[in-house]
Amino acid sequence: MQKEAIRFDDTARAFASKSTKELRKSHFLFSTMGHPWMVKTGVFMTNLALTLRLPVKGMIRRTLFDQFCGGESITDCQHTIDHLAEVKVHTILDYSVEGAGDEASFDAACDEIVRVAEYAKTHKAIPFVVVKPTGIGSIEVMTRAQTGAPLSPDDTQALANMKGRLHRLAEHARSNGLQFMVDAEESWIQDVIDDMVEELMAEFNTEKPIVFNTYQFYRHDALARMKASIEAARKGGYHVGYKLVRGAYMEKERERAEKLGYSDPIQPDKASTDRDYDEALTYCMEHIDRVAICAGTHNEKSAQLLVDLLEEKDLAKDHPNVYFAQLLGMSDNISFLLADMGYNVAKYVPYGPVQKVLPYLFRRAEENTSIAGQSGRELTLVKKELKRRKSA
Ligand SMILES: Cc1cc2nc3c(=O)[nH]c(=O)nc-3n(C[C@H](O)[C@H](O)[C@H](O)COP(=O)(O)OP(=O)(O)OC[C@H]3O[C@@H](n4cnc5c(N)ncnc54)[C@H](O)[C@@H]3O)c2cc1C
Repeated sequence: MQKEAIRFDDTARAFASKSTKELRKSHFLFSTMGHPWMVKTGVFMTNLALTLRLPVKGMIRRTLFDQFCGGESITDCQHTIDHLAEVKVHTILDYSVEGAGDEASFDAACDEIVRVAEYAKTHKAIPFVVVKPTGIGSIEVMTRAQTGAPLSPDDTQALANMKGRLHRLAEHARSNGLQFMVDAEESWIQDVIDDMVEELMAEFNTEKPIVFNTYQFYRHDALARMKASIEAARKGGYHVGYKLVRGAYMEKERERAEKLGYSDPIQPDKASTDRDYDEALTYCMEHIDRVAICAGTHNEKSAQLLVDLLEEKDLAKDHPNVYFAQLLGMSDNISFLLADMGYNVAKYVPYGPVQKVLPYLFRRAEENTSIAGQSGRELTLVKKELKRRKSA
Protein backbone atom coordinates (compact mmCIF):
# COMPACT_ATOMS: atom_id res chain seq x y z
CA MET A 1 0.00 0.00 0.00
CA GLN A 2 1.21 3.53 -0.81
CA LYS A 3 2.08 5.24 2.46
CA GLU A 4 1.02 8.80 3.16
CA ALA A 5 4.19 10.93 3.32
CA ILE A 6 3.53 14.01 5.41
CA ARG A 7 4.95 17.25 4.06
CA PHE A 8 6.03 18.77 7.33
CA ASP A 9 7.50 21.72 5.44
CA ASP A 10 4.15 22.67 3.92
CA THR A 11 4.21 25.92 5.86
CA ALA A 12 1.16 27.43 4.15
CA ARG A 13 -0.95 24.64 5.62
CA ALA A 14 0.96 24.30 8.89
CA PHE A 15 0.77 28.00 9.76
CA ALA A 16 -2.64 28.76 8.22
CA SER A 17 -3.97 29.78 11.64
CA LYS A 18 -1.04 32.07 12.48
CA SER A 19 -1.11 35.77 11.67
CA THR A 20 1.94 37.37 10.05
CA LYS A 21 2.40 39.42 13.24
CA GLU A 22 2.54 36.22 15.31
CA LEU A 23 5.03 34.66 12.90
CA ARG A 24 7.27 37.75 13.04
CA LYS A 25 7.28 37.51 16.82
CA SER A 26 8.23 33.82 16.68
CA HIS A 27 10.92 34.69 14.14
CA PHE A 28 12.45 37.24 16.52
CA LEU A 29 12.29 34.85 19.47
CA PHE A 30 13.77 31.80 17.73
CA SER A 31 16.53 33.89 16.11
CA THR A 32 17.46 35.19 19.57
CA MET A 33 17.35 31.72 21.12
CA GLY A 34 19.63 30.44 18.39
CA HIS A 35 22.47 32.34 20.12
CA PRO A 36 23.41 30.59 23.38
CA TRP A 37 25.19 33.71 24.73
CA MET A 38 21.99 35.75 24.28
CA VAL A 39 19.96 33.16 26.20
CA LYS A 40 22.56 33.03 28.99
CA THR A 41 22.70 36.83 29.21
CA GLY A 42 18.89 37.07 29.06
CA VAL A 43 18.42 34.55 31.87
CA PHE A 44 21.05 36.31 34.00
CA MET A 45 19.62 39.80 33.38
CA THR A 46 16.05 38.66 34.06
CA ASN A 47 17.02 37.03 37.36
CA LEU A 48 18.95 40.15 38.33
CA ALA A 49 16.06 42.44 37.40
CA LEU A 50 13.68 40.30 39.45
CA THR A 51 16.02 40.37 42.45
CA LEU A 52 16.19 44.16 42.14
CA ARG A 53 12.40 44.22 41.75
CA LEU A 54 12.60 45.94 38.37
CA PRO A 55 9.39 45.82 36.29
CA VAL A 56 10.33 43.10 33.75
CA LYS A 57 7.12 41.09 33.94
CA GLY A 58 5.59 42.88 30.92
CA MET A 59 8.67 42.20 28.81
CA ILE A 60 8.71 38.48 29.73
CA ARG A 61 4.98 38.24 29.13
CA ARG A 62 5.26 39.69 25.63
CA THR A 63 8.14 37.41 24.61
CA LEU A 64 8.87 33.95 26.08
CA PHE A 65 5.60 33.72 28.03
CA ASP A 66 3.38 34.48 25.02
CA GLN A 67 5.30 31.95 22.89
CA PHE A 68 5.33 29.05 25.35
CA CYS A 69 2.48 29.60 27.87
CA GLY A 70 -1.29 29.77 27.62
CA GLY A 71 -1.87 32.30 30.42
CA GLU A 72 -1.54 32.95 34.11
CA SER A 73 -4.63 31.00 35.21
CA ILE A 74 -6.93 28.32 33.85
CA THR A 75 -9.50 30.84 32.57
CA ASP A 76 -6.72 32.99 31.15
CA CYS A 77 -5.88 30.02 28.85
CA GLN A 78 -9.36 29.94 27.32
CA HIS A 79 -8.25 32.03 24.35
CA THR A 80 -5.42 29.57 23.57
CA ILE A 81 -7.70 26.56 24.10
CA ASP A 82 -10.28 28.03 21.68
CA HIS A 83 -7.65 28.97 19.15
CA LEU A 84 -6.20 25.44 19.18
CA ALA A 85 -9.67 23.86 19.07
CA GLU A 86 -10.46 25.86 15.92
CA VAL A 87 -7.64 23.98 14.18
CA LYS A 88 -8.71 20.67 15.79
CA VAL A 89 -5.85 20.55 18.27
CA HIS A 90 -6.66 19.46 21.83
CA THR A 91 -5.20 21.05 24.95
CA ILE A 92 -3.42 19.49 27.91
CA LEU A 93 -3.31 22.17 30.62
CA ASP A 94 0.01 21.91 32.42
CA TYR A 95 0.31 23.76 35.74
CA SER A 96 3.99 24.63 35.45
CA VAL A 97 4.64 26.30 38.76
CA GLU A 98 7.50 24.96 40.84
CA GLY A 99 6.28 25.07 44.43
CA ALA A 100 8.13 25.47 47.71
CA GLY A 101 8.63 21.68 48.00
CA ASP A 102 6.67 21.23 51.25
CA GLU A 103 3.49 19.27 51.94
CA ALA A 104 1.33 22.43 51.81
CA SER A 105 2.62 23.36 48.33
CA PHE A 106 2.09 19.74 47.14
CA ASP A 107 -1.53 19.89 48.36
CA ALA A 108 -2.00 23.26 46.64
CA ALA A 109 -0.66 21.89 43.32
CA CYS A 110 -2.95 18.87 43.61
CA ASP A 111 -5.95 21.17 44.29
CA GLU A 112 -5.05 23.17 41.18
CA ILE A 113 -5.05 20.03 39.00
CA VAL A 114 -8.42 19.03 40.45
CA ARG A 115 -9.64 22.47 39.30
CA VAL A 116 -8.27 21.67 35.81
CA ALA A 117 -10.23 18.39 35.82
CA GLU A 118 -13.42 20.22 36.85
CA TYR A 119 -12.83 22.79 34.11
CA ALA A 120 -12.02 20.13 31.51
CA LYS A 121 -15.27 18.29 32.24
CA THR A 122 -17.16 20.98 30.32
CA HIS A 123 -14.52 21.49 27.61
CA LYS A 124 -14.35 18.74 25.02
CA ALA A 125 -11.02 20.09 23.76
CA ILE A 126 -9.26 19.02 27.00
CA PRO A 127 -9.04 15.20 27.04
CA PHE A 128 -6.21 14.77 29.59
CA VAL A 129 -5.07 16.11 32.93
CA VAL A 130 -1.39 15.88 33.71
CA VAL A 131 0.83 15.98 36.78
CA LYS A 132 4.54 16.41 37.30
CA PRO A 133 5.33 14.08 40.22
CA THR A 134 7.83 16.48 41.83
CA GLY A 135 4.99 19.03 41.99
CA ILE A 136 3.06 16.79 44.38
CA GLY A 137 5.81 14.88 46.20
CA SER A 138 9.25 15.42 47.69
CA ILE A 139 12.22 14.64 45.45
CA GLU A 140 14.41 14.05 48.54
CA VAL A 141 12.02 11.49 50.03
CA MET A 142 11.61 9.72 46.66
CA THR A 143 15.40 9.59 46.28
CA ARG A 144 15.78 8.00 49.72
CA ALA A 145 12.96 5.53 49.01
CA GLN A 146 14.51 4.44 45.71
CA THR A 147 17.96 3.82 47.18
CA GLY A 148 16.50 1.75 49.99
CA ALA A 149 17.78 4.20 52.64
CA PRO A 150 16.03 3.95 56.01
CA LEU A 151 12.87 6.06 55.98
CA SER A 152 11.77 8.18 58.94
CA PRO A 153 8.09 8.16 59.97
CA ASP A 154 7.81 11.59 58.27
CA ASP A 155 9.24 10.13 55.03
CA THR A 156 6.80 7.23 55.13
CA GLN A 157 3.96 9.68 55.68
CA ALA A 158 5.19 11.92 52.84
CA LEU A 159 5.19 8.96 50.41
CA ALA A 160 1.70 7.95 51.54
CA ASN A 161 0.54 11.56 50.99
CA MET A 162 1.96 11.58 47.48
CA LYS A 163 0.28 8.29 46.67
CA GLY A 164 -2.97 9.71 48.03
CA ARG A 165 -2.65 12.77 45.79
CA LEU A 166 -2.07 10.62 42.69
CA HIS A 167 -5.08 8.52 43.63
CA ARG A 168 -7.23 11.62 44.12
CA LEU A 169 -6.21 12.95 40.68
CA ALA A 170 -6.91 9.61 38.95
CA GLU A 171 -10.31 9.52 40.65
CA HIS A 172 -11.14 13.05 39.47
CA ALA A 173 -10.00 12.26 35.94
CA ARG A 174 -12.18 9.14 35.83
CA SER A 175 -15.28 10.81 37.25
CA ASN A 176 -14.95 13.69 34.76
CA GLY A 177 -14.48 11.39 31.76
CA LEU A 178 -10.80 12.34 31.28
CA GLN A 179 -7.48 10.55 31.04
CA PHE A 180 -4.68 11.19 33.52
CA MET A 181 -1.00 11.42 32.56
CA VAL A 182 1.95 11.31 34.93
CA ASP A 183 5.15 12.96 33.64
CA ALA A 184 8.54 11.21 33.85
CA GLU A 185 11.33 12.63 35.98
CA GLU A 186 14.96 11.87 36.85
CA SER A 187 16.07 8.23 36.91
CA TRP A 188 16.93 8.33 40.63
CA ILE A 189 13.26 8.82 41.57
CA GLN A 190 11.54 7.23 38.57
CA ASP A 191 11.25 3.69 40.05
CA VAL A 192 9.19 5.08 42.93
CA ILE A 193 6.94 6.92 40.47
CA ASP A 194 6.65 3.86 38.17
CA ASP A 195 5.55 1.67 41.08
CA MET A 196 2.86 4.14 42.11
CA VAL A 197 1.57 4.61 38.55
CA GLU A 198 1.59 0.86 37.82
CA GLU A 199 -0.62 0.36 40.88
CA LEU A 200 -2.98 3.08 39.66
CA MET A 201 -3.16 1.52 36.18
CA ALA A 202 -4.09 -1.85 37.67
CA GLU A 203 -6.86 -0.18 39.66
CA PHE A 204 -8.24 2.38 37.19
CA ASN A 205 -7.59 0.84 33.77
CA THR A 206 -9.66 -2.33 34.07
CA GLU A 207 -12.09 -1.35 31.31
CA LYS A 208 -10.09 1.23 29.35
CA PRO A 209 -6.86 3.21 29.66
CA ILE A 210 -7.40 6.13 32.04
CA VAL A 211 -4.04 6.42 33.80
CA PHE A 212 -0.90 6.94 31.67
CA ASN A 213 2.73 6.58 32.76
CA THR A 214 5.65 8.15 30.83
CA TYR A 215 8.68 6.32 29.41
CA GLN A 216 11.87 8.15 28.37
CA PHE A 217 13.79 6.34 25.63
CA TYR A 218 17.06 8.14 26.22
CA ARG A 219 17.31 5.59 29.04
CA HIS A 220 18.78 2.32 27.76
CA ASP A 221 16.49 0.28 30.03
CA ALA A 222 13.23 2.01 29.04
CA LEU A 223 12.14 -0.39 26.30
CA ALA A 224 12.58 -3.46 28.53
CA ARG A 225 10.74 -1.75 31.41
CA MET A 226 7.87 -0.77 29.13
CA LYS A 227 7.57 -4.29 27.71
CA ALA A 228 7.49 -5.73 31.24
CA SER A 229 4.71 -3.30 32.12
CA ILE A 230 2.67 -4.46 29.10
CA GLU A 231 3.26 -8.08 30.09
CA ALA A 232 2.09 -7.35 33.66
CA ALA A 233 -1.04 -5.65 32.30
CA ARG A 234 -1.80 -8.64 30.08
CA LYS A 235 -1.44 -11.03 33.02
CA GLY A 236 -3.41 -8.72 35.32
CA GLY A 237 -6.16 -8.15 32.74
CA TYR A 238 -5.97 -4.35 32.64
CA HIS A 239 -5.06 -1.70 30.06
CA VAL A 240 -2.02 0.56 30.06
CA GLY A 241 -1.46 4.08 28.80
CA TYR A 242 1.98 5.52 28.01
CA LYS A 243 3.29 8.91 27.05
CA LEU A 244 6.39 8.12 25.02
CA VAL A 245 9.17 10.72 25.09
CA ARG A 246 12.90 10.80 24.45
CA GLY A 247 13.68 12.48 27.78
CA ALA A 248 14.51 15.94 29.04
CA TYR A 249 17.27 15.60 31.64
CA MET A 250 20.17 14.06 29.72
CA GLU A 251 22.96 16.39 30.89
CA LYS A 252 21.80 16.22 34.50
CA GLU A 253 21.63 12.40 34.36
CA ARG A 254 25.12 12.04 32.92
CA GLU A 255 26.66 14.52 35.35
CA ARG A 256 25.16 12.79 38.39
CA ALA A 257 26.18 9.31 37.21
CA GLU A 258 29.74 10.49 36.71
CA LYS A 259 29.88 12.36 40.03
CA LEU A 260 28.53 9.46 42.07
CA GLY A 261 30.35 6.80 40.05
CA TYR A 262 27.46 4.65 38.85
CA SER A 263 26.89 3.53 35.27
CA ASP A 264 25.28 6.10 32.99
CA PRO A 265 21.54 5.32 32.55
CA ILE A 266 21.47 7.22 29.23
CA GLN A 267 21.89 5.68 25.78
CA PRO A 268 25.38 5.93 24.27
CA ASP A 269 24.20 8.22 21.44
CA LYS A 270 21.22 9.95 19.86
CA ALA A 271 20.81 7.18 17.25
CA SER A 272 20.22 4.62 20.03
CA THR A 273 17.59 6.87 21.62
CA ASP A 274 15.87 7.30 18.24
CA ARG A 275 16.00 3.53 17.57
CA ASP A 276 14.40 2.65 20.92
CA TYR A 277 11.81 5.42 20.65
CA ASP A 278 10.67 4.16 17.26
CA GLU A 279 10.77 0.55 18.40
CA ALA A 280 8.55 1.49 21.35
CA LEU A 281 6.03 3.09 18.98
CA THR A 282 6.04 -0.07 16.85
CA TYR A 283 5.73 -2.39 19.85
CA CYS A 284 2.85 -0.41 21.37
CA MET A 285 1.02 -0.41 18.05
CA GLU A 286 1.36 -4.21 17.97
CA HIS A 287 -0.44 -4.28 21.34
CA ILE A 288 -2.93 -1.52 20.63
CA ASP A 289 -5.80 -3.64 21.95
CA ARG A 290 -4.37 -3.12 25.44
CA VAL A 291 -2.08 -0.11 25.11
CA ALA A 292 -2.91 3.57 24.54
CA ILE A 293 -0.14 5.95 23.55
CA CYS A 294 0.56 9.62 23.48
CA ALA A 295 3.65 10.27 21.35
CA GLY A 296 5.18 13.38 22.98
CA THR A 297 7.68 14.31 20.32
CA HIS A 298 8.87 17.07 18.01
CA ASN A 299 10.69 14.57 15.84
CA GLU A 300 9.22 14.45 12.35
CA LYS A 301 10.54 10.96 11.53
CA SER A 302 8.88 9.48 14.62
CA ALA A 303 5.63 11.30 13.84
CA GLN A 304 5.77 9.94 10.28
CA LEU A 305 6.44 6.43 11.61
CA LEU A 306 3.36 6.54 13.81
CA VAL A 307 1.27 7.74 10.86
CA ASP A 308 2.64 4.81 8.80
CA LEU A 309 1.90 2.31 11.58
CA LEU A 310 -1.72 3.46 11.82
CA GLU A 311 -2.04 3.05 8.07
CA GLU A 312 -0.31 -0.35 7.98
CA LYS A 313 -2.67 -1.67 10.63
CA ASP A 314 -5.64 -0.15 8.84
CA LEU A 315 -6.62 1.78 11.94
CA ALA A 316 -8.58 5.04 11.95
CA LYS A 317 -6.43 8.19 11.98
CA ASP A 318 -8.25 9.27 15.13
CA HIS A 319 -8.05 5.88 16.83
CA PRO A 320 -8.89 6.65 20.49
CA ASN A 321 -5.69 4.93 21.70
CA VAL A 322 -3.31 7.06 19.64
CA TYR A 323 -2.39 10.69 20.32
CA PHE A 324 0.40 12.92 19.05
CA ALA A 325 1.49 15.71 21.42
CA GLN A 326 3.78 18.72 21.22
CA LEU A 327 4.56 21.63 23.52
CA LEU A 328 2.81 24.96 22.94
CA GLY A 329 5.01 27.21 20.83
CA MET A 330 7.07 24.36 19.39
CA SER A 331 6.72 22.23 16.25
CA ASP A 332 3.42 23.78 15.22
CA ASN A 333 4.03 22.35 11.76
CA ILE A 334 3.68 18.79 13.17
CA SER A 335 0.67 19.61 15.37
CA PHE A 336 -1.34 21.65 12.90
CA LEU A 337 -0.64 19.44 9.87
CA LEU A 338 -1.51 16.19 11.63
CA ALA A 339 -4.65 17.69 13.20
CA ASP A 340 -5.73 19.02 9.81
CA MET A 341 -5.28 15.52 8.37
CA GLY A 342 -7.56 14.04 11.03
CA TYR A 343 -5.13 12.61 13.62
CA ASN A 344 -5.59 13.11 17.38
CA VAL A 345 -3.24 15.90 18.40
CA ALA A 346 -2.78 17.73 21.68
CA LYS A 347 -0.60 20.58 22.83
CA TYR A 348 0.82 20.79 26.35
CA VAL A 349 -0.29 24.29 27.38
CA PRO A 350 1.74 25.39 30.39
CA TYR A 351 0.26 28.08 32.59
CA GLY A 352 0.84 29.91 35.87
CA PRO A 353 1.79 33.36 37.15
CA VAL A 354 4.58 34.81 34.97
CA GLN A 355 7.14 34.96 37.75
CA LYS A 356 6.39 31.40 38.88
CA VAL A 357 6.72 29.79 35.44
CA LEU A 358 10.11 31.38 34.81
CA PRO A 359 12.04 28.13 35.49
CA TYR A 360 9.87 26.44 32.81
CA LEU A 361 10.44 29.32 30.37
CA PHE A 362 14.20 29.32 30.93
CA ARG A 363 14.27 25.56 30.33
CA ARG A 364 12.44 26.06 27.03
CA ALA A 365 14.85 28.83 26.01
CA GLU A 366 17.86 26.70 26.94
CA GLU A 367 16.42 23.61 25.25
CA ASN A 368 15.99 25.63 22.08
CA THR A 369 19.67 26.44 22.09
CA SER A 370 20.98 23.09 23.34
CA ILE A 371 18.97 20.65 21.21
CA ALA A 372 20.92 20.61 18.02
CA GLY A 373 18.67 21.98 15.35
CA GLN A 374 15.43 22.58 17.30
CA SER A 375 15.46 26.37 17.15
CA GLY A 376 17.02 26.13 13.69
CA ARG A 377 14.16 23.88 12.62
CA GLU A 378 11.53 26.28 13.97
CA LEU A 379 13.27 29.30 12.47
CA THR A 380 13.66 27.80 9.00
CA LEU A 381 9.95 27.02 8.82
CA VAL A 382 8.85 30.44 10.10
CA LYS A 383 11.25 32.18 7.69
CA LYS A 384 9.96 30.09 4.80
CA GLU A 385 6.35 31.00 5.57
CA LEU A 386 7.09 34.72 6.00
CA LYS A 387 8.87 34.71 2.65
CA ARG A 388 6.00 32.85 0.99
CA ARG A 389 3.47 35.36 2.35
CA LYS A 390 5.57 38.29 1.21
CA SER A 391 5.76 36.99 -2.34
CA ALA A 392 2.09 35.86 -2.45
C1 LIG B 1 4.06 16.61 24.90
C2 LIG B 1 5.41 16.40 25.51
C3 LIG B 1 5.51 15.92 26.81
C4 LIG B 1 6.76 15.70 27.39
N1 LIG B 1 6.85 15.17 28.65
C5 LIG B 1 8.06 14.85 29.17
C6 LIG B 1 8.19 14.17 30.40
O1 LIG B 1 7.19 13.85 31.07
N2 LIG B 1 9.44 13.87 30.85
C7 LIG B 1 10.57 14.16 30.13
O2 LIG B 1 11.69 13.81 30.55
N3 LIG B 1 10.48 14.82 28.96
C8 LIG B 1 9.27 15.17 28.46
N4 LIG B 1 9.19 15.81 27.25
C9 LIG B 1 10.43 16.31 26.57
C10 LIG B 1 11.04 15.22 25.70
O3 LIG B 1 11.54 14.21 26.53
C11 LIG B 1 12.19 15.72 24.80
O4 LIG B 1 13.15 16.38 25.57
C12 LIG B 1 11.84 16.65 23.70
O5 LIG B 1 10.57 16.41 23.21
C13 LIG B 1 12.84 16.50 22.55
O6 LIG B 1 12.78 15.20 21.95
P1 LIG B 1 12.01 14.86 20.60
O7 LIG B 1 11.37 13.53 20.67
O8 LIG B 1 11.10 15.99 20.33
O9 LIG B 1 13.08 14.68 19.46
P2 LIG B 1 14.54 15.12 19.03
O10 LIG B 1 14.61 16.62 19.03
O11 LIG B 1 14.81 14.37 17.80
O12 LIG B 1 15.48 14.54 20.14
C14 LIG B 1 16.10 15.26 21.15
C15 LIG B 1 16.23 14.30 22.32
O13 LIG B 1 17.06 13.18 21.96
C16 LIG B 1 17.80 12.75 23.10
N5 LIG B 1 19.24 12.89 22.79
C17 LIG B 1 19.87 13.97 22.25
N6 LIG B 1 21.21 13.77 22.14
C18 LIG B 1 21.44 12.53 22.65
C19 LIG B 1 22.62 11.75 22.85
N7 LIG B 1 23.82 12.22 22.51
N8 LIG B 1 22.49 10.53 23.40
C20 LIG B 1 21.28 10.04 23.76
N9 LIG B 1 20.13 10.72 23.59
C21 LIG B 1 20.19 11.96 23.05
C22 LIG B 1 17.38 13.65 24.26
O14 LIG B 1 16.35 13.02 24.95
C23 LIG B 1 16.88 14.92 23.55
O15 LIG B 1 15.94 15.64 24.31
C24 LIG B 1 7.94 16.02 26.65
C25 LIG B 1 7.83 16.50 25.34
C26 LIG B 1 6.59 16.68 24.76
C27 LIG B 1 6.53 17.18 23.37
